[in-house]
Amino acid sequence: MSSEKPYSFFQSVERSFDKAAVFTNWDPGVLEQIKACNSVYQMRFPVKVDDKIEVIEAYRVQHSHHKTPCKGGIRFSLAVNQDEVMALAALMTYKCAIVNVPFGGGKGGIKIDPKKYSAYNLEKITRRYTAELIKKNFIGPGTDVPAPDYGTGAREMAWILDTYVAMHPGEIDAAGCVTGKPVSQGGVRGRTEATGLGIFYGLREVCNMQTVMDKLKLTVGVEGKRVCVQGLGNVGYHAAYFFKEAGAKIVGLAEYEGAIWNNDGLDLDAVVEHRKKNGSIHNFPGATNFENTGEALEMDCDILIPAALENVINGENASRIKAKIIGEGANGPLTPDADEILALKGIIVVPDMYLNAGGVTVSYFEWLKNLSHVRYGRMEKRFTENMNHHILGQMEELTGKNVSADEREFIMHGADEVDLVRSGLEETMITATREIMDIWNANPNIPDMRTAAYVCAINKVATSYAELGIFP
Ligand code: GLU
Repeated sequence: MSSEKPYSFFQSVERSFDKAAVFTNWDPGVLEQIKACNSVYQMRFPVKVDDKIEVIEAYRVQHSHHKTPCKGGIRFSLAVNQDEVMALAALMTYKCAIVNVPFGGGKGGIKIDPKKYSAYNLEKITRRYTAELIKKNFIGPGTDVPAPDYGTGAREMAWILDTYVAMHPGEIDAAGCVTGKPVSQGGVRGRTEATGLGIFYGLREVCNMQTVMDKLKLTVGVEGKRVCVQGLGNVGYHAAYFFKEAGAKIVGLAEYEGAIWNNDGLDLDAVVEHRKKNGSIHNFPGATNFENTGEALEMDCDILIPAALENVINGENASRIKAKIIGEGANGPLTPDADEILALKGIIVVPDMYLNAGGVTVSYFEWLKNLSHVRYGRMEKRFTENMNHHILGQMEELTGKNVSADEREFIMHGADEVDLVRSGLEETMITATREIMDIWNANPNIPDMRTAAYVCAINKVATSYAELGIFP
C-alpha cells in the first residue's frame, strides 16, 4: 500500500513551489500571488449529440496575468476536473518563464472521452466551447491563446480558429488566437514534433554534461544510451524518434494496454505499424511482453521518458525504479513523494515544467508568425543562398578545389521555416537546461533539478511583477 498523502495535483504543484521558494528571497506576499490561479472559468453548456442533449462540463484557467496573453493547451479527457486544469495552468506559467516565452500560464479542459464522439459531434462541442470562451473574453491573440493538449490536435485548433474568426470579422491578428493549427490555417512548420524534439534537446544537453554523467557513471552523449518511453502519442513517439536518430537504443515502449522490451533495441516505426495492425503493442517480434505498463517503468535503462499521464511514478513504485535519468515528457508524471525517493537514490529527474516546453516554445513562434503575417525564412532564404553560392565560388576559385555535391547542397542551403523553428527550439532548450543546472550547482542545498527549475521560474515571474511596479 502506498503511504502517499492524498495531495491533489494542484496541491502537488504548490508543494513543489514551496519547496523551491525557500531558496529565494522574495516577500511571502509575492510568492502567494505567483502561486494563486488568477482566473478560473468553469462552464456547463448543452450540446445536441445525435438525438439527445448532453450537458458538457468544461474549464479554462488563467493561472497568471503577469504577462499576457495567457497560454496553454486544451485537453479532452474524462479525467478533466478543476483541480487538474488549475495545476496544469500553473505549470504553464512556470514553464513559459523558464524558457523565456513571454506568456502567463493557462489551460483548458473539456470533460469528455473524445473517442466516444463522431468528428461531427466533436466539432459541435469544440465550437460551442470556443463560443463560451469568446463570451467571457477568455480567448484572443492578446488575452488567452489555447493550443493542443491531451486528446486534441490541429483539427480542433482549426475549429477554434474558424469559430473565433466568424465572431471577430476583420480582426487582422485573429490567426494568433490559437496555436497548433494546421499549416494551411496559419500554423507553423515544426509544431507537430516540437514537444518531442524539445525533450530530446533538453535531455541531450544533460547527457553532454561531463560532471552529471560522471555522477551517474554514464558516458557523455546520447549515442548508445538505452531509452524507455511510456506513451506512443505525439510527444512520446517524437521523443523516441529523435533519440533513435541520434544513435540511442529504444529498449522499452509502453502503452496503456501493456509494454514491450528488447535489450537489443526496438524498431520504433515497425512497433507503431504493428500496434496499428494488431490493436496492441504486445507480441512484437523479438520483444518480451509486459502485461502491465508499469512493469516497463521499473526495468533497467539509462533514460526513462514517461510521456503519457500524471502520477505514474509515485510513493509506491519509486523505490523500484532503476533508470538513471528520468525525463518527464508528460505533465506531472511523478508525484512529490516519488521525487524525494528518487533524489535519495541519486536518479536525476529532468522536470516536465521545462523539459516538455518545446510545444509552447514553438507555439510562441507560431503566434509571432501570425502577428507578423509572414512565413519564417521567406525574406532571407534566397538572399542567403545567393550569398553562399558566391562565397563558395570564390573559395573554389582561390583554392582550385571543388567540394562534393552533398557538401555543396549543405553549404548553399538557405534556412526554411522548419530549420529556423528547430534552431530556435534547440537554442531555447539548451539555454534553459544550462540556466537550471547553474542554479542547482550554485546551491548544494537544492535537492533536485525540479526544485532548481522552480527557483528559476519563481525568480523570473517575481522579477517581472517587481518590474511591473505591482510590488513596491
Ligand atoms: N499543451 C502543451 C503544453 O502543455 C502546449 C501548450 C501551448 O502550446 O500553448 O505545454
